[in-house]
Amino acid sequence: MSTTSPTPAEGARPAVAVSGVTKSYGGLRAVDEVTLEVRSGEFFGLLGPNGAGKSTLVEIMEGLRRADSGSVSVFGESPWPRNTALLPRMGVQTQSSAFFVRQTVHEHLRTVAALFGADPAAVDTTLESVGLAGRHGVRVDSLSGGQRQRLAIASALVHGPELIFLDEPTAALDPEGRRDLWEVLRGLKARGRTIVYTTHHLDEAEALCDRVGILVDGRLVVTDEPQHLIGTFGAGSRMLVPLGRIGEREAAALPGVEAVTVQGGHLVLETRATGRVLAALDAVTGLEGVQTRTPSLEDVYLDITARRPGRTPAAPENQEQQA
Ligand code: ADP
Repeated sequence: MSTTSPTPAEGARPAVAVSGVTKSYGGLRAVDEVTLEVRSGEFFGLLGPNGAGKSTLVEIMEGLRRADSGSVSVFGESPWPRNTALLPRMGVQTQSSAFFVRQTVHEHLRTVAALFGADPAAVDTTLESVGLAGRHGVRVDSLSGGQRQRLAIASALVHGPELIFLDEPTAALDPEGRRDLWEVLRGLKARGRTIVYTTHHLDEAEALCDRVGILVDGRLVVTDEPQHLIGTFGAGSRMLVPLGRIGEREAAALPGVEAVTVQGGHLVLETRATGRVLAALDAVTGLEGVQTRTPSLEDVYLDITARRPGRTPAAPENQEQQA
């Protein structure tokens, strides 16, 4: 299973190039022969289930871990062994970002800025951009989880890096904070920065990323633009039918239905033949309350990673029609 995306413009050097990278921990292959390019100015999302190898791969790109084999280059240079020439050009937020916990928010970021020799004026603008402008005097150890997350992101951005690595930056944020951060990230991209990030939020990846790569068990199974992926993998539309209107087996036997799941208060019917299924449903239960959803990146992701829970396969005659 693989799709290819358009070749980068002739002569454009990628910000990050990973070639045949493998990394094992004991007997476990956490990253398995991964080859990948992140183009300059691109917003690239790395997706995959827990344990798929995302953090390990990102840490290898950042120069925080050494690959067992394969090669990595960042702006044409190897990030390993620790390459101090690259540090000012990269911003890194990890899931275990370190803080000066006894300092205030402003002191912390001033310290980080000074370590990088960054313009002190960037401290205020960066705090403002991540929504921490009102928290200058608060001690770092008094911040909420979401606020710490924002400070970790500010610490990755304060020196104005060209290439920004963010590991699940929106994980601890509430929905409003998440949307605010989307605007910060879109602003960075608009200013030509390259962003590599991991997330479990598929809606977010679909909204933000130019391209995504999906890792499964250490292997990069696909790299593509979200909309192209959705088209290529042809995830079906989903029809939501209020529970109790039709049984699961009866729904799975309707012509055109490929699979049925129960989600919340609905039976979810997957299909690539919306019109046929709607007509069949209409005849059985009527269409009141029935909603149709077009496929999303989440549908493709769940199909690729084979993690879709509780699926009732279509009736055998439907499966034969699809074959
Ligand atoms: P992800 O970020 O996708 O959740 P990770 O890169 O953190 O995946 O982990 C990939 C696999 O490698 C997991 O099975 C994890 O348990 C293992 N792993 C990660 N770091 C280490 C380590 N330092 N030592 C041993 N195993 C590790």
